[in-house]
Amino acid sequence: VQTKLPNVGTTIFTVMSALATETGAVNLGQGFPDFECDPKLVQAVTDAMTRGLNQYPPMTGVPSLREAVASKVEALYGRRYDSGSEVTITAGATQAIITAILAVVRPGDEVIVLEPCYDSYVPNIELAGGTVVRVPLVPGTFRPDFDRIAAALTPRTRAILINSPHNPSATVWTREEMLRLQDLLAPTDVLLISDEVYEHMVFDGHRHQSAASFPGLAARAFIVSSFGKTFHVTGWKVGYVLAPAPLSAEFRKVHQFNVFTVNTPVQHGLAAYMARPEPYLELPAFYQRKRDLFRDGLRKTRLRMLPSEGSYFQCVDISAVSDLREDEFCLWLTREIGVAAIPLSAFYGGGFDQRVVRFCFAKRDETLQEALARLARL
Ligand code: PMP
Ligand code: GLN
Repeated sequence: VQTKLPNVGTTIFTVMSALATETGAVNLGQGFPDFECDPKLVQAVTDAMTRGLNQYPPMTGVPSLREAVASKVEALYGRRYDSGSEVTITAGATQAIITAILAVVRPGDEVIVLEPCYDSYVPNIELAGGTVVRVPLVPGTFRPDFDRIAAALTPRTRAILINSPHNPSATVWTREEMLRLQDLLAPTDVLLISDEVYEHMVFDGHRHQSAASFPGLAARAFIVSSFGKTFHVTGWKVGYVLAPAPLSAEFRKVHQFNVFTVNTPVQHGLAAYMARPEPYLELPAFYQRKRDLFRDGLRKTRLRMLPSEGSYFQCVDISAVSDLREDEFCLWLTREIGVAAIPLSAFYGGGFDQRVVRFCFAKRDETLQEALARLARL
């Protein structure tokens, strides 16, 4: 077969979860909770099914859910998106990102990604016929390097993809960094795709800086988020995209032929559940406690922890523990120590020379404790 994606195999998340299952390892690799969501949310979805809300919803999403999203975004980030023309419900953030890319990237367009980055971005751009322009985040700190971003901008640049809180490094962009990006893009017509799926997981009193809060960014942005992350239901695969009406219109042209619509009862259930803001307002404290529990245990090992400012990930440098390459280390760690992790090299297109791996701490305390007991053997 003539392949469209010669460099793509099965994603690392699937590979490592399969290995964890096969070996009985504690799975801190793929990012997903091992605990249940709020039973009230399940009840809300069940109620919607029982009420007979089981046929196709409107193409852009159930109106009450679009309205709930618009209200949340206005309350938290100060920008009002019109729920009719500027909010679209998607089959997870994954679909939102590829649909945004297919909607705006033409063959030959350049799209800037900041490496390390989530593994779907690069193949998405390639499928659209775009040219991937990789700009590294600062090695070691994973902060954006604005000189290098500026140097990567050309007349052919169509879009830049950013992600904060960041998977895998767990850094969170500051207000100053968002302002610098806004200044940098001001003289251009470059579009922004802002992946904010971990928006409600920011620690130590810091605030998530949504592109929605920066008028010069919001005007050019597709902002993507995921109910799966926020409400502990990654398997439901429902997310959303916010964009000014003309960009949303382009998005919807593609969306209707990608998936047409998204699961009806889940949308109704989420809309009802979002009447109370507590579930997402309580999320930072919920995950900060898990992060701290995990970090307290890691401190007793020779793994060197990197900061974790947001997301549900914790990265560690393995240099003091092993001479293996980070991808080999993850296989060894899963098989011999019984804990699965993800090598950071999976988030790069090559040229990775750091010895860092990622753990996910969206797990029950017992799971984290079991993993820590095993890691103590390192
Ligand atoms: N972007 C990032 C940075 C992610 O970590 C994930 C989830 N792994 C996604 C997008 C996809 O989210 P969803 O499961 O809603 O498709
Ligand atoms: N986003 C999750 C992670 O980074 C997993 C998503 C997936 O399996 N594709 O681990």
